[in-house]
Amino acid sequence: MPETHEVIIIGSGPAGLTAALYTARANLSPLLLEGEPSSTSDQPGGQLMLTTDVENYPGFPDGIMGPELMVNFRAQAHRFGVQIETVKATRVDLSERPFKIWVGDPEAPEPTYQGHCLIVSTGAQSLMLNLDREIELVGHGLSTCATCDGFFFRDQEIAVVGGGDSAIEEATFLTRFASKVSIIHRRDTLRASKIMQKRAFDNPKIEFIWDTVVTEYLGEDSISGLRLRNVRTDESYDLPVTGVFIAIGHRPNTDVFSGQLEMKDNGYLVTQPDCSRTNIEGVFACGDVQDDVYRQAVTAAGSGCMAALDAERWLESQHS
Ligand code: NAP
Repeated sequence: MPETHEVIIIGSGPAGLTAALYTARANLSPLLLEGEPSSTSDQPGGQLMLTTDVENYPGFPDGIMGPELMVNFRAQAHRFGVQIETVKATRVDLSERPFKIWVGDPEAPEPTYQGHCLIVSTGAQSLMLNLDREIELVGHGLSTCATCDGFFFRDQEIAVVGGGDSAIEEATFLTRFASKVSIIHRRDTLRASKIMQKRAFDNPKIEFIWDTVVTEYLGEDSISGLRLRNVRTDESYDLPVTGVFIAIGHRPNTDVFSGQLEMKDNGYLVTQPDCSRTNIEGVFACGDVQDDVYRQAVTAAGSGCMAALDAERWLESQHS
């Protein structure tokens, strides 16, 4: 028989653990499925597990390491009795209540868990170049978030990879700190909007490196340069930089909800305005899985709180 819970939360980044904390303190005895450590993309703790210094999370005047912050989030949820399982949901059936969740074999006849209410906080992942040592260099010169890490590259020469709005926006933002920003793009035209392109072309600190891909990260413990290859001439050369920002897009972790929860064209979950309700009554979404705009730990945590309050009120309305 599946274990039945009042509230099940899937995903354990700042959004999921905040939702867990709030629902636990509302005596809803939530079950949190935190994911599995085998995965580098949607591992327990979310994207902060892949960062080093976090200097923009309020309440930590001296900053805190990303993994340490998530250990604290988890410990705080644990203190209020959240049941945390280190498993990944492999299938969900949201067609009727209680909602059904499988972990392990998705073809198993019986689900593992049932929940009267579901909070989805499975997050998103930055697309990466999949080069050697990429994950270990995150936080050591390699970043996927200019807002978070730009400050560390004051007066340095750095690079941004990508040709969309994110790459151009990040590069433009990074010129506030860096002495020079090279945008490395695999084609000779940008995908970014014309107005953002113009802003970048007019910025004297930005240089474009066209028709070029990164083939290797250089440097032992941190980035000291990039090996580049021009895809037209096949010429390879090294670009000395102390930092590189990968801005080639994000992917929300929503595969398991496909065909059940309403999504935008880019795969992010749709929530109703000013709340965390999805298209299915009793299913709420929070954090990066439904946010393709702000993508900050603090906004994720805030939306986790919203989802918990929405879930609590919805459950109350069901019992009255
Ligand atoms: P995007 O529009 O999908 O652009 C991704 C860029 O990365 C493309 O230029 C692509 O090259 C390149 N790329 C993809 N895979 C690559 C790889 N493996 N190696 C090298 N380059 C690779 O993603 P985005 O820039 O994150 O934007 C996502 C959405 O958010 C867009 O709709 C965008 O308009 C929106 N957005 C808006 C704003 C704003 O308005 N302020 C800011 C950020 C994002 P190709 O061009 O060759 O495919």
